[in-house]
Amino acid sequence: MRDKKRKSAAPGSEPAGFEGHRLSGSPRLSRAPSASGQPSHSTDNGLDVSCALIHRWVRALTVLCCLFGAGPPAAAHGVSVDRLVRAYPDFLLSHDDHVLIWKDGTRMPLSDGRTDKSFEEKLRHASILDQLSLPYPKGPLRKPPGLQEDPGRLRNVAFFDKMYGDCSKGEVQRRLTRVAWLPRSGGGSVEITTVNRVAERLRAVSEGLDTLRPELKKFAFPSAGTFNCRTVKDTGVRSMHAWGAAIDLNTQVADYWLWNPKNPYRNRVPAEIVDIFEKHGFIWGGKWAHFDTMHFEYRPELL
Ligand SMILES: [Zn+2]
Repeated sequence: MRDKKRKSAAPGSEPAGFEGHRLSGSPRLSRAPSASGQPSHSTDNGLDVSCALIHRWVRALTVLCCLFGAGPPAAAHGVSVDRLVRAYPDFLLSHDDHVLIWKDGTRMPLSDGRTDKSFEEKLRHASILDQLSLPYPKGPLRKPPGLQEDPGRLRNVAFFDKMYGDCSKGEVQRRLTRVAWLPRSGGGSVEITTVNRVAERLRAVSEGLDTLRPELKKFAFPSAGTFNCRTVKDTGVRSMHAWGAAIDLNTQVADYWLWNPKNPYRNRVPAEIVDIFEKHGFIWGGKWAHFDTMHFEYRPELL
């Protein structure tokens, strides 16, 4: 039933495409005489003069875009650096083509200069641009994620350490607070970071979930945990739980790829739960190839 619902999702939930201009695949223009009355001249590749003119315009526009800062590397990726800056207004000020500029003056390189990284290497050593490279499909899932679709799972450790603190030094712990979790349903409480107003946003998520029908609500509590100073099992990279900005829901009705790595994608969490989290800036691990359907983390830059 739920899968059928997902198939009928709105077309807007499809991840954005990132192909460049593909004029070679465009329909050929008609070979009508030009305004001067002269027949247009065919070029070697079969394009007429008017089409060649369009090529020149596109090339000129591309050069202009690069000159005015919209060019590579940022524009070549899934989510723009502008969006990252807008998502964390308490910390980030601006960026240029090469560095992210923090409000305290810190300049952090966007790229690590490597263009040959495998997907596995990106999971373990993500640059800020790698972190933005996979678009997150907001809204109902239309199909299981592809093999390398792990949007949000690429995380630059220095970026999040600077924002939320280093839990091995007790920095994250000092910024945690307790939030009642589905109080009307007896969900207890969870510890979450106050940085970026994550606790406030999680409280709003909790209120939304608490209004759902009991058969939906059962997926949301008890929570299987929030803050935990640990790494992700398969990558060894610090988990979003280590920054106090993630929550796991009821494991009894969740699916996790590592519980049975040979099994294909599986999910039982209803879209209504996911919608409430996404509305408040949290992405869902159920949209990852390495699926973790109990897991939500605060990543507003991807939404
Ligand atoms: Zn988790």
